[in-house]
Amino acid sequence: TKSVFRFGGGSADGDASQRDLLGGKGANLAEMAGIGLPVPPGLTIATSVCAAFYDAGGKLPDDVKADTLAALAHVEQVTGKTFGDAADPLLVSVRSGARVSMPGMMDTVLNLGLNDVTVEGLARASGNPRFAWDSYRRFIQMYGDVVLELDHYLFEDALEIAKEDRGVTLDTELTAEDLQGLVARYKAIVAENWGDAFPQDPHEQLWGAIGAVFGSWRSDRARTYRRLNDIPESWGTAVTVQAMVFGNRGDTSATGVAFTRDPANGERVTYGEYLINAQGEDVVAGIRTPQYLTKAARERAGARAASMEEAMPVVFAELAKVFALLETHYRDMQDIEFTVEDGRLWMLQTRSGKRTAKAALKIAVDMASEGLITEAEAVLRVEAGALDQLLHPTLDPHAPRDVITRGLPASPGAASGAVVFDSDTAEARAKMGDAVILVRTETSPEDIHGMHAARGILTARGGMTSHAAVVARGMGRPCVSGAGSISIDLTARTMRVGNRMIGEGDRITLDGTTGEVMVGEVATVEPELAGDFGLLMEWADKHRRLKVRTNAETPADCRTARGFGAEGIGLCRTEHMFFEPSRITSVRRMILAEDGAGRASALAELLPEQRADFARIFREMAGLPVTIRLLDPPLHEFLPHDEAGFADVAEATGLSVGTVRRRIAELHEFNPMLGHRGCRLGITYPEIYAMQARAIFEAAVAVAKDTGEAVVPEVMVPLVATARELEITKAAIDAEARAVFAETGRTLDYMVGTMIELPRAALRAAEIAEFAEFFSFGTNDLTQTALGISRDDASRFLGVYVEQGIYPRDPFVGIDEEGVGELVQIATDRGRAARPGLKLGICGEHGGDPASIAFCERLGLDYVSCSPYRVPIARLAAAQAAL
Ligand code: PEP
Ligand code: MG
Repeated sequence: TKSVFRFGGGSADGDASQRDLLGGKGANLAEMAGIGLPVPPGLTIATSVCAAFYDAGGKLPDDVKADTLAALAHVEQVTGKTFGDAADPLLVSVRSGARVSMPGMMDTVLNLGLNDVTVEGLARASGNPRFAWDSYRRFIQMYGDVVLELDHYLFEDALEIAKEDRGVTLDTELTAEDLQGLVARYKAIVAENWGDAFPQDPHEQLWGAIGAVFGSWRSDRARTYRRLNDIPESWGTAVTVQAMVFGNRGDTSATGVAFTRDPANGERVTYGEYLINAQGEDVVAGIRTPQYLTKAARERAGARAASMEEAMPVVFAELAKVFALLETHYRDMQDIEFTVEDGRLWMLQTRSGKRTAKAALKIAVDMASEGLITEAEAVLRVEAGALDQLLHPTLDPHAPRDVITRGLPASPGAASGAVVFDSDTAEARAKMGDAVILVRTETSPEDIHGMHAARGILTARGGMTSHAAVVARGMGRPCVSGAGSISIDLTARTMRVGNRMIGEGDRITLDGTTGEVMVGEVATVEPELAGDFGLLMEWADKHRRLKVRTNAETPADCRTARGFGAEGIGLCRTEHMFFEPSRITSVRRMILAEDGAGRASALAELLPEQRADFARIFREMAGLPVTIRLLDPPLHEFLPHDEAGFADVAEATGLSVGTVRRRIAELHEFNPMLGHRGCRLGITYPEIYAMQARAIFEAAVAVAKDTGEAVVPEVMVPLVATARELEITKAAIDAEARAVFAETGRTLDYMVGTMIELPRAALRAAEIAEFAEFFSFGTNDLTQTALGISRDDASRFLGVYVEQGIYPRDPFVGIDEEGVGELVQIATDRGRAARPGLKLGICGEHGGDPASIAFCERLGLDYVSCSPYRVPIARLAAAQAAL
C-alpha cells in the first residue's frame, strides 16, 4: 500500500478527506495544492508508517525510504533546487501531523539541509549572509534539541553569551560574523555532548529528523495529551517534509496568520496579523508587535505601522482571493498560516478556525444565509453547550458602576450578590434563597458545593486556568480570578480592597467578561434572543423530535423558560414553595404536630397558599402540560438545627422550646436521603399529599373555568420503589380529584405518574406502569442510588475519580450511560411493554446536558426537562441528536 504522498507543483496525491492517513496538516496541504493554491511542494509519510516505525525498533522500512527519496526528487524538480546542492540548496521542514491537532505536543525541524558547505551557497544565492548563518544556527539548535536530544539550555546559554560579548540585547542585532562564530560554538556543543560531530550529510539529517518526529508521538507530553483528550495511541502521526520558504529574506518577505472571519464576533472581515521580514516563530514569540492585515483594521485600532493591504497591495489582493476560495471550498471559517517570500505568496496551513460561541452562532447563520451551508448544517455547527455563554444576563452598559478592582475575566457573565467567604456559608445562604458571591483567596476542590451555590466567584489569586476559573466555566458561573488587590481576613469576615472594607453580607457585582469587581448591585440586561439566535433555534426546532420542558416552580421562572421556548413544565418541586416566609411557620407546625389532627389544622393554612401557587403557574403556562411533584424532601430540612433556631420556632408556633427540641431530635435521621422522604411521607402522613392534590385540582378547575383553556395537570409521585406504593398514593390522589370535581361541578383530564429514581423501580417498571400514565426519570437520585454515591458529598472524591478515568465524566453532570443508562433503558422497555403509550421524560440535571440528551434521543424518550436557562441548549442538542 501507498505510504508516501506527494503534493505541490499544481497537483497532489491526496486530499482533505484523507485526514486519517495524512494527518490534518498533510491532508489540508494536499487539498490546497490540489485546487491550485500556492503551496510549497513536499511529501507526507502516512500515519500508518508510524506503527511500522515502532515495530521495526525505531527504523523506517526500506520501501518507505525509497518512496521518500523519489518524492523528494519530485520536490527538487518543482523547485528547481537540489537537496545538498552547494550553490543553491533545497532546504526542507520536517513536521508532525496527527488526525486531530495536538498543538505543540510533537516535534518540528526547520531549515534542514544546511551544513558547512550549503550555508555558503544559501548566503550567495540569497545575497544575504546574515540570513544564511542565522538559519544554520537555528537549524543546529532545533536539530540538537529534537533529534540529538541535547539540552536546549546549552544552546540558549551560548546565544546569551554571544549577545553579552557583543553588548547587544536582541538576537536581530547579531551580525553575520557573530552568527558564524555562534555556529562554531554550537557545533562544539554538539561534539562535546553528543560525542560526535554535527551531521553534515543532508540525507543523514533527513532520516534523523523523520525518525525523531515519529518518535515524538510517544513522548511523555504527547501521551499525556492523548490521555486527556481521548486520542487513541494507535492513530499515530504522519510526517510532512516540505520545501522551506522564508519570510525573513528582507522587506519584500513576510509571514502571517489569519482567520477568514472574525473569530471573536463572527463578522465577515479578514482578521489577522503579519510581520515583514520575519519567520513564523517570531510572530508567536511576541518580540515584535505584529501589524494588521487590512487598512480598515489598522485604522480602527489607531495603529500607525502599515497594514499588509497598504504595504504589499498586490500580494494582499492575492491573499484575499485565496481566503474567499478556501471558504467556499471548505464551507467553513478557516484559520490560515502564510508566508511571503520575495513578493511571492505561499500557503503553509489551513484548518477550521476555533471561535467563540458568539462567533460560531453568527458564522453558522450567515453561512446558511449565504447559501454556503444548509440550515441543518448550521444547526450542527454550533456547540449546544457553548450557547450557555450567550444566554446569561450581562451588565447594563448604561448603569452606573463603582469599580473597586479588576481581576482576570475567567468565566463570562455578570452576577450580583452578598459576599460570603467560605463555601458552607455560601451553600447555607443560597438554600435560604439568597444570591451570594463566593470570595476566596483561591478555591480548591472542597469549594465545589459553595461555587455551585454561588451566583459568582471572586478569587484574589490564580490565573485563567486556576481551579476557580476552570470550574466556574464548567458550571457556567461568572468568575473573576486573580484580583490581587483583594486581601481577605477570615477571622474578621471582611475583605480589604485598597482603602475600602467590605464585610460578609455586603453586596457586590462581578463582570466575568471584563474582570471588573463593583460595589453594590449593577443593573443587568437580558440577552438578545431574537436575530441570529432566534433563527438558529427555529431551524433546530424543525429537526428535533424530543420535546423540551423546564424545571420551574415560580411564575418568573416559568416566564423565562417560555421565553426560551419551553413546551411545558417537566418538574415543579413543590417543596420550594414551602420555604416561602409566609408559609414556613405553617409548614413547621405541620411537621412538629404530634398527631393527624394537628397536621390537618396546619395543612388547612397551607391549602389556599398552594392553590394560589398552582393557579399562577397554570395561568403562566397557558394550557401547556405541567408536571407537579408532591412533597419529596425529608421533613427535617424545613427545621433549624441550633438552639437559637429552636427558640424562634417555639415562638412562632406557640410550642414550648422543650417540645420543639424533642420533636426535632425525634425527626433526626442518619441517612436522610434514604430515609423518610418521597412517597414514604405521603403514605405515612396521607394528609400532606391529600392537601397538595386538592390544591392542584382546585387551582386547575378554577383556571380552566376562568380562561376557558384546558389545564392538564400531571401529578407526580417521587421516590417510588414498588408498585404498591404508587397504587396507594394514586388512589388517594384520584379520591381527592373526585371530591373536587363533585364539589365544583366541573371535571378535567389529569394524569398520575411517577418518578423513576430508584433501581428497584426501574427493574419493576412493568408493574409500576399499571398505575402510572407517565414516568419521569429522576436521574439525580437514580445516579445517587445506582452508584451508591451521595449527591451531597460526591465532590470530595469525584474529581479524582474522573482524573483516573473511573468515570469518564462527573456522573451527576453527564449520565452514566453504562450503569444508570441501562436502568433507564430497562425501565423504558418494560414500562412501554406493559403500557403502550406510556409517556417518558427525564427531569434530573442530565436533562440539560447535550451528551445525555443525545442518549435520551437514542432511547426514544418523549421529552427532556431542564432549568430555564438550559432550555435553548436542550432544543439545539435535541436537534443535533436527531440529525
Ligand atoms: C432527581 O432526583 O433527579 C430529581 C429531579 O429530583 P430532585 O433533584 O429534586 O431529587
Ligand atoms: Mg429526586
